[in-house]
Amino acid sequence: MGHIWDKLNYSAFAIPAFFVFVGLEYFAAVKRRKAVFQYESSVVNISVGVAERLLNLFLTAAFLGLFRWVYQEFAIWRVPDTWYVWVFLLLATDLVWYWYHRFGHEVNLFWAAHVVHHQSEEFNYTVSARITTVQAIVRNLFWCILPLAGFKPEMVTVTLIIHGTYSFFTHTQMVTRLGWLELVLITPSHHRVHHASNERYLNKNYGDLFVFWDKMFGTFQAEDEEPRYGLTHPLKSFSFIWQHVHYFAELFYAVRMSRGISDGLRILFGSPELMDQRIRPMLERKFVPPFEAAPVPLRVARYVNAQLFLAICVLFFFTLFFDFYSLVDRTIIVLLILITLVNCGALLQQRRWIYYIEFSRLILLAASLSAFVGNVPFQASLLMLIAVSAEAFEWRKQYLRLLYERTE
Ligand SMILES: [Zn+2]
Ligand SMILES: [Zn+2]
Repeated sequence: MGHIWDKLNYSAFAIPAFFVFVGLEYFAAVKRRKAVFQYESSVVNISVGVAERLLNLFLTAAFLGLFRWVYQEFAIWRVPDTWYVWVFLLLATDLVWYWYHRFGHEVNLFWAAHVVHHQSEEFNYTVSARITTVQAIVRNLFWCILPLAGFKPEMVTVTLIIHGTYSFFTHTQMVTRLGWLELVLITPSHHRVHHASNERYLNKNYGDLFVFWDKMFGTFQAEDEEPRYGLTHPLKSFSFIWQHVHYFAELFYAVRMSRGISDGLRILFGSPELMDQRIRPMLERKFVPPFEAAPVPLRVARYVNAQLFLAICVLFFFTLFFDFYSLVDRTIIVLLILITLVNCGALLQQRRWIYYIEFSRLILLAASLSAFVGNVPFQASLLMLIAVSAEAFEWRKQYLRLLYERTE
């Protein structure tokens, strides 16, 4: 029997490390009087990252299993694990990344997965957290090329961790230029260009670690004018769900309106630049009612902060002790965190329907906590009591008054 220490998932410590660097960047920005952080954007960026870290816990083992299967069944040959192979593997990983990332921008279907990373109109370390699980799945399918080329799955996994960590550090405006390193690496300056929507910066600097792939394939652009960050057609929504699904919905409608299968395929695998720009406003009218762009009141912001802080703490311990939870515990924790993230996004837009989300979270929490202390009749009566008092004491009105200082 292994020791408890062997069963912990130490990748949990990436979470506090992330916030240490975000904090350092924040203080550096304040000191230099540079407006780099915008409250709503930072909350939304972190929310996207929390969901990805959370759902990826369920997929990490599957990805390693997939790499092993590809390696055992299909590897064209076996690369030995001598020290210099690590150098080749790092180069190969970076090359695969370049093409994965380029497809992510130039093919509609892949852009639907990658677009979330580019929605932020600010640029700081929190933007590096804007990765979704769908994107992680697409990326790992690309990584299968590495075990197929004969690299050992365990070596591939270690390289991917190093590679993934590096890209965190390129999401900042606090590092200006890095001298001769600008000629070798993808630096913050190069990646700022990638995140900008200035005409001359579009579809440039796809690399992650080394800059020479972009130079080799003709997509390099130096930072020579002030970047404007975000999408060419900004999303203008803080909704957690809409940010994740809007482009898939746009694609779905575009394909549905297409003339025949070949036209539909041309949309799916064509360039995002050719997307019909009338689709998104049409969908927004249908699914996303406009919201008041008024600044978030302080008490609402405090409530969002408290919820996000709790969600992050839960995520940390859930990650660290992941192997110890049962399937039921896991499902409850995932639901609670996801509901909380949806709630935070809706609060930023001061939606009224968040009461129902809040209520469903309360029911879920009460049901799962009471399962520890009592039997089914106890649980049922507790839930009934909550439902009856909600009705009798007009919880919805009280809640909205407390939060937004109005009842409707
Ligand atoms: Zn990109
Ligand atoms: Zn980026």
